[in-house]
Amino acid sequence: MFDNLLPRFLRYVRINTQSSDRCYDCPSTPGQLELLKLLKQELEELGASEVRLNPSGYVMATVPSSCQKARIPTVAFLAHVDTAPDLSGENVEPVVHRNYDGGILRFPRNPGIVLDPTAMPELHEAKGKDLVTASGTTLLGADDKAGVAVVMTLVEHLLGHPEIPHGRVRICFTPDEEIGRGVDKVDLKALDANVAYTMDGHAPGEICAETFSADKATVTIRGVSTHPGDAQSKGMVNAVHLAGKFLAALPREHCAPETTAGREGFIHPLELEGNVEQVVIKLILRDFEREGLVEKGAVVKTLCRSMQTAERRARITCRIQKQYRNMAYWLQKDRLPVELAFQACRSIGLNPFEVPVRGGTDGSRLTERGLPTPNLFCGMRNVHSAFEWVAVQDMELAVQATLKLLELWADKGARFRGYS
Ligand SMILES: [Zn+2]
Repeated sequence: MFDNLLPRFLRYVRINTQSSDRCYDCPSTPGQLELLKLLKQELEELGASEVRLNPSGYVMATVPSSCQKARIPTVAFLAHVDTAPDLSGENVEPVVHRNYDGGILRFPRNPGIVLDPTAMPELHEAKGKDLVTASGTTLLGADDKAGVAVVMTLVEHLLGHPEIPHGRVRICFTPDEEIGRGVDKVDLKALDANVAYTMDGHAPGEICAETFSADKATVTIRGVSTHPGDAQSKGMVNAVHLAGKFLAALPREHCAPETTAGREGFIHPLELEGNVEQVVIKLILRDFEREGLVEKGAVVKTLCRSMQTAERRARITCRIQKQYRNMAYWLQKDRLPVELAFQACRSIGLNPFEVPVRGGTDGSRLTERGLPTPNLFCGMRNVHSAFEWVAVQDMELAVQATLKLLELWADKGARFRGYS
């Protein structure tokens, strides 16, 4: 039904768009710009309107309304073009496994790894489908080129089928999501949408309307450095020792990433740098609830204070900075964007389900900034690894779900509170 979907996806994954937090340009890597330029060109060729690539590397475009009806909210679809820094994205060689037989899948360039359904039960769902993997040494980049291909196919289908009723649709492709800068520079005025969906989720039917709330903490421990030969008489205070004490005193039970799951939050020291003179420890704090997040900040601050009291010659400071907030705080006020996503999935025979994301999405920030943005599935699995795969039929389901969703918005959107 969507013949160009697979070739499109294969074309996109071959471009290396790995982002890098070591570069402060936007986009952070030239490969992303290459794909963004290609997308701009393809959108123009498909006949989309208002196609723009802005200097920060955001491609936006419009599919005009196909309805006479007034008062239909503008719906935007977003997908990110970059791939994760976890694993190489260079020379990705996608392999298409037609009509997957449900058995073990091997990788041509890495005989040491396999996709084994006994260890990865979600592969059972893929039997009979056409799977795409990488060749064993790189990631595939379905995160989020599956989303990009789904959105491009949606545009193609809408423009080719003016009989499908829908309001004005906005498209936005973003860079640098994987390094946390994805929507820093999204101009909401330019995007000009009432509601949005990121196409950056996993199994068919998955809808995400809830994410962590996130802060980061920076603990700086300043000691007193002396020559170790006369450290006793000169009063050495070793910041490295103090850092060890600090880390040992952090709560671990039900409070670390490795001891929590589901709706539990955590305190996670993720980086440490320093010497006798000074150590800087970076931590991330996560919780679904505002109160829980505040408590976690208080735990870190209290620990710093008691260490300061115990060692007055040191100087221990703690700085807590806001990162993002759970999108549910805003989406709960008007559930229509989530409800219509559920209805759209059901109407194409899927069993929709909601997962609280133990992380953030681009939608967390956009929702907080005033654009309600749940996340929808687009088929990607085992992301950020050499085991990444996506089924072509799952990407097709995502296109169908978005088509249904637009019809529902055209029908029921007028009662959306976020629409004025
Ligand atoms: Zn992603």
